[in-house]
Amino acid sequence: MSTIAGNLQAVEATIQAACNAASRPRSAVQLLAVSKTFPAEAVLEAAAAGQRAFGENYLQEGLDKIAAVAKALPDTRLEWHFIGPIQSNKTRPIATHFDWVHTVERLKIAQRLSEQRPPALGPLNICLQVNISGEASKSGIPPEELPELAKAVAALPNLRLRGLMAIPEPQVDPALQRIPFARLRELAQDIARSGIQLDTLSMGMSGDMRAAVLEGATIVRVGSAIFGARHYE
Ligand SMILES: *Cc1c(COP(=O)(O)O)cnc(C)c1O
Repeated sequence: MSTIAGNLQAVEATIQAACNAASRPRSAVQLLAVSKTFPAEAVLEAAAAGQRAFGENYLQEGLDKIAAVAKALPDTRLEWHFIGPIQSNKTRPIATHFDWVHTVERLKIAQRLSEQRPPALGPLNICLQVNISGEASKSGIPPEELPELAKAVAALPNLRLRGLMAIPEPQVDPALQRIPFARLRELAQDIARSGIQLDTLSMGMSGDMRAAVLEGATIVRVGSAIFGARHYE
């Protein structure tokens, strides 16, 4: 078995154990394999082990990888998620080549993605990134501005608002890891009460996926636990 296949099995076991502990079905949590900085060959290895959803942070790198992987696996439908910062002049290729965008934090960007999404592809799935830990340097919309953004994004034609995403400040203590995840879940519940249906909480990475699943994550974004340590970013 390749290292990546073995790592995927270990991550799978962690997710399964967390689902069991939370009395959630395994099918409630999607594993997004974050392949940023790793070559197309790493994606092909993960795909050979059955992984179908991949996340990329850097647009040009992601586009090159999507093309290379499509060429190598013309008959395998993979799902590509954009999870990096979005520059407003780079929205068109995102809207054209990705299935999901997790990092929408401004209406302007959402409007451009909606305008530029080729209608034949169906709606682009969107998560709003929330600045859950309140760090000045971190991206994401402040929680108090979220209801207004959610309402506006939900009304755009070629997008489907699916839920919320956050990257909390790293914590080692599993109990502390759960606090911002619980907060994100509550924010999503507030929005749902206002009449906007959401089905996605994109939260949890290699170091905190168990805590995220315990608090209701529906997508965990896992990179280094699958592909190994990144040597640059
Ligand atoms: C890199 C990255 C991940 C994966 O992080 P790991 O700690 O390697 O699992 C998840 N989400 C986002 C937004 C990232 O940039």
